[in-house]
Amino acid sequence: GAKINGKNTYLFFEPTKGDFASETLIIENGLRKALKNNELFLVYQPKWDTKEDQFIGLEVLVRWQSPELGFMNPGQFISIAEETDLIIVLGEWILKEALNSMMELSKTIGFIPKISVNLSPVQFRNSALNTTIKEILEETRFPAEKLELEITEGALVINPKMAIEKMNDLVNLGITFSIDDFGTGYSSMSYLKKFPVSTLKIDKSFVDDVVSDHQDRAIIEAIITLAASLEMKTIAEGAETKEQVDILNFIGCYAIQGYWHSRPLDYTALMAYFQKLN
Ligand code: C2E
Ligand code: MG
Ligand code: MG
Ligand code: MG
Repeated sequence: GAKINGKNTYLFFEPTKGDFASETLIIENGLRKALKNNELFLVYQPKWDTKEDQFIGLEVLVRWQSPELGFMNPGQFISIAEETDLIIVLGEWILKEALNSMMELSKTIGFIPKISVNLSPVQFRNSALNTTIKEILEETRFPAEKLELEITEGALVINPKMAIEKMNDLVNLGITFSIDDFGTGYSSMSYLKKFPVSTLKIDKSFVDDVVSDHQDRAIIEAIITLAASLEMKTIAEGAETKEQVDILNFIGCYAIQGYWHSRPLDYTALMAYFQKLN
């Protein structure tokens, strides 16, 4: 999606860049409306334990079906929402909707699935975050132990001390944390151990060529070793083929998330997914 430096002033001072600025404005205004008009919805991608052949959880991913702009993936609008406070409202809506949906789903499938919700660095830095999460947990009666939050390395480096405090406060409730897109950010080994993190999500870019590229395979092996020594788990993102899954399993990555096992599913497809599992 278009990512500009975020100032609408382009429109006035640099007319040549006006296209970008107005695209941003259109999406920004569209999103405000989308929140009110139910144009946003969630899909859920299963995470799968390849060793035990069992379901371990779902990642929540947001989608936008706009009557004016058409179907949009988060890559096209999350970064724009991050440039304003919109991401805060959007993030709240996503969390509330996800937890309510899982409570509703549990009536049909007989258990509450574990879910992971993505947190934007902007949301993570917001001082009201923990209060909001606690309120939503209370309101939806969703069990905190079933909630995982995915954050990126970038969210941790800006103010590590604050990050640790914030995370510990939520971990005390039973919430767990995973590091998303791991390997693409800034973490050093010594750095990582300070944060209460349960899982490293190995970025898809390493998984893509794991079958043919020795270096990518070596990087994944190093991440798995690092995780083991820090008593963290690993999950590989974006596994699309049986060959990838077999190698990942062989080198000790116990879980995968990707098209090979399942695409992200809407609520109806998710119900069918669980029915097939039994
Ligand atoms: P992410 O958190 O790393 O999510 C994984 C992305 O990889 C998702 O794209 C998912 O659909 C895609 N994916 C999963 N398996 C495969 C595969 O086998 N092959 C391929 N080609 N792709 C696969 P999506 O849904 O477009 O989301 C993109 C990014 O947008 C996410 O990356 C996340 O950073 C952000 N995002 C999505 N939903 C939310 C949300 O609710 N809140 C926030 N703050 N960010 C979100
Ligand atoms: Mg994620
Ligand atoms: Mg990811
Ligand atoms: Mg990724």
